Amino acid sequence: MVSLQEDRQEEAVCPICQEHLKEAVSTDCKHLFCRVCLAQHMEKALASGALCCPLCRKPYSERVLGEGYICHKHQKRFQRFCEKSKCLLCVECLESPEHQSHSEPTIENAISHYKERLTRRFRKLRKDIGELQRLKAQEEEKLQALQVDCGNHKLEPELVSQHQNKGQLDIIPQQQLEDTSAEEARILELSKAIAQISLLVADLESTAKELDANTLTTASDLLKRTTPKNLDELLSLLAPAGPVAN
Ligand SMILES: [Zn+2]
Ligand SMILES: [Zn+2]
Ligand SMILES: [Zn+2]
Ligand SMILES: [Zn+2]
Repeated sequence: MVSLQEDRQEEAVCPICQEHLKEAVSTDCKHLFCRVCLAQHMEKALASGALCCPLCRKPYSERVLGEGYICHKHQKRFQRFCEKSKCLLCVECLESPEHQSHSEPTIENAISHYKERLTRRFRKLRKDIGELQRLKAQEEEKLQALQVDCGNHKLEPELVSQHQNKGQLDIIPQQQLEDTSAEEARILELSKAIAQISLLVADLESTAKELDANTLTTASDLLKRTTPKNLDELLSLLAPAGPVAN
């Protein structure tokens, strides 16, 4: 028999499908398999009772697939993702009346579908950030202009001499003070929105990158949290534009 050690280190071939390991998982005996291959093997093995390594027959625990890949209720591997109930289903779960009317995608399909949606979402939000940054720059210019204006007032000599000890803000006309602080507030709001959306973008990006069966529910929650409707408040800072596309 070919040394597995060599296989593993040099080619990383899955002993079941004979192809390069995809999402390698290790049995308790440290043999490596593609997650999908081992899951399929596991399903057959579970039907006949015991879980043994396909190579060395040493027993291993179902947990090697990773927490969340096995339905604890039925002890079968998860195969589908229910978009409606946001949960993973094994073949037996699938038969329950609750899911009869749903069309449940396979986990693989759900993953690629969610990846696409997450990617589309963070690209869209990145554009929004760009737009918010542009607005912020505009507001900063306005603020600067206002401050220059205020500065001119500060220079009026008779006022300066009257108010020297009270601090110069006192001599700036009330209206200008209000404009300035309104401007500052708006800039602050824009900065906050930019920071918040940036966090969401980072979240979307890393979720898309690491998406697997265990994080499908997280992905679905995240998509919900970042729908334009739920971001309305933040995005209302954007210049009036057409309805925001998904
Ligand atoms: Zn394989
Ligand atoms: Zn083994
Ligand atoms: Zn089940
Ligand atoms: Zn369902």
